[in-house]
Amino acid sequence: MLAAFSRRAVAVTKRAMTTSSILKSKDVAFIGLGAMGYPMAANLSGLRSDEDTSTVFVWNRTNSVAEKHASEFGTRAASSLDELKGCSVVFMCLPTSREVELVCKDLVLDQGAIVADCTSGDPITTRKVASSLAERKIEMVDCPVSGGPTGAKSGQLTSMIGGPIHAVSAVEPYLKRMAQKKIVQVGSIGAGHAVKAVNNTLNTAHLAIASEGLLALAELGIAPEVAIEAINGSSGRSLQTEERIPKEVLSREFNYGFPLGLMLKDVTVAVDSVCAKNNANVRDKKDQMPKFFPLVKVLLEKAVELESGEADYSRVVRPLEAETGLELHAGSGVDGKYDAPIYELSEKEVFHG
Ligand code: NDP
Repeated sequence: MLAAFSRRAVAVTKRAMTTSSILKSKDVAFIGLGAMGYPMAANLSGLRSDEDTSTVFVWNRTNSVAEKHASEFGTRAASSLDELKGCSVVFMCLPTSREVELVCKDLVLDQGAIVADCTSGDPITTRKVASSLAERKIEMVDCPVSGGPTGAKSGQLTSMIGGPIHAVSAVEPYLKRMAQKKIVQVGSIGAGHAVKAVNNTLNTAHLAIASEGLLALAELGIAPEVAIEAINGSSGRSLQTEERIPKEVLSREFNYGFPLGLMLKDVTVAVDSVCAKNNANVRDKKDQMPKFFPLVKVLLEKAVELESGEADYSRVVRPLEAETGLELHAGSGVDGKYDAPIYELSEKEVFHG
């Protein structure tokens, strides 16, 4: 079970600051040049200050991607992990904590170097990896990011960072080049991954619950774009009703750019790691309040089954649509799809005054 990310833990890591070795090398590295890592490493390299002569190494499992990055952005492609040995900070952005664990086993770094994990990971595995790195005198922070490939390209990411304060402070100047929108220190190691998993679950939950409401209204003959116009001027609005539903769902584009499979991975972390204690309480005790997070996971599992793990996460609305036999799309008033006359008054309800 996940131990608490308490303020005390943060205070303890603050005291450890004096014993930490000071980072000597200014060279840094980025491992994992995927949809997120590729543009993040470009910003890590491109936003160096003029007098900064340090090198940004890039390593990718498929080396040709690293070579391409080097020729495009002036980074230095490493063909083996050994070439990263002299780097003081090594960022990585890999699919899951499993790949992070595998790569960290093979990583040889100098004492006092820091691994900065931008993966949306699992806090339990992260703590394990951090303690095995600590045996080799390597530190770790977890700094997952939010903002998608578009934010990664523009540098407009938000990062939630966990770890020992001195390591967090050492990483922040580099992280700032990639996460210019916001960096929030959230606690000890694993806290970043815990917050990120909860954030993504909320994202999906808001999208799903708003769609459930819109489908119910559609069944009553109220067109979604009309309902959403009212909701967006009222207290039920959210980023999902203002942006995601009109742009991805009502348009039937479903092209936000984040796959269902990765979202299911994050929500599984939230349910099975972050909320494990709360969910166990629900199973053990009668009359507990219902828990929403496991419902989000069930819905995502159904969506992956119906659509595929590669499909856009906005397709999480598809199982809900399939159940009602309706589709949420714009222009519904025109084709009469939502013209169910449920709200027509019966003769005796009409006031003839
Ligand atoms: P991609 O699938 O685009 O990239 C994955 C990267 O990991 C590739 O560089 C791949 O290398 C590498 N990789 C995969 N398996 C291994 C392995 N066993 N050993 C070494 N390297 C490996 O993923 P994303 O960039 O989209 O996502 C990365 C992380 O960021 C995930 O945790 C995701 O949840 C998170 N994230 C993603 C967002 C998005 O919108 N895409 C938004 C916010 C967070 P290769 O080129 O050889 O395949």
